[in-house]
Amino acid sequence: MAITRRDFLKISGITSAGIFFGLFDLEPIKAYALANPPEWMTEACNICPYCGCGCGLILGANSEGQITYVQGDPDNPINLGSLCSKGANAGQLNHIEGYSSTAWYKAADSERVIYPLKRVGGASDWIQISWEDALDEIADLITDERNNHLITTDGVNRLETIAALGTAKDTNEECYLFTKLMRSLGIVYLEHCARV
Ligand code: SF4
Repeated sequence: MAITRRDFLKISGITSAGIFFGLFDLEPIKAYALANPPEWMTEACNICPYCGCGCGLILGANSEGQITYVQGDPDNPINLGSLCSKGANAGQLNHIEGYSSTAWYKAADSERVIYPLKRVGGASDWIQISWEDALDEIADLITDERNNHLITTDGVNRLETIAALGTAKDTNEECYLFTKLMRSLGIVYLEHCARV
């Protein structure tokens, strides 16, 4: 059955009202949670990657390195321990379709890209290159682009053929430096997922 946005809002409202007025029995859910408490061997603080707020997380992992619980970090000044539903489910971050639930974290580790990859024009395979080569290539491309396309008429210093995208994981200070660097190159198309 297709559920429209209006249907969804109605169902959500009725469910919320039902919980508020005690119409639904939450005891089985509480009992399940109490009977299956999370177990963890290690804990680590991290930052939620889902939006620009950057809420602090505390992640617990079992002996196999599998995340077994997530909670908001009460010492983080951004969220003071609270999380929205996306952050509260950050334990599913490394889930990869096709792997069993006990193997997903190993698969994620083995598939995480930790070095630069390059695909030559027309090729179908990626090749691994060093960070030095990657940075040199990027610098050369930016230089070429600037030499060929920088607009300098009417006192303007404007490069419209490159866009720059920031990340919510940058601090204010890093974003400031990022913007300064891009502006110094004449780049005018700047965006950031947080837009704050
Ligand atoms: S917990 Fe929610 S509000 Fe906080 S950073 Fe993650 S997605 Fe954003």
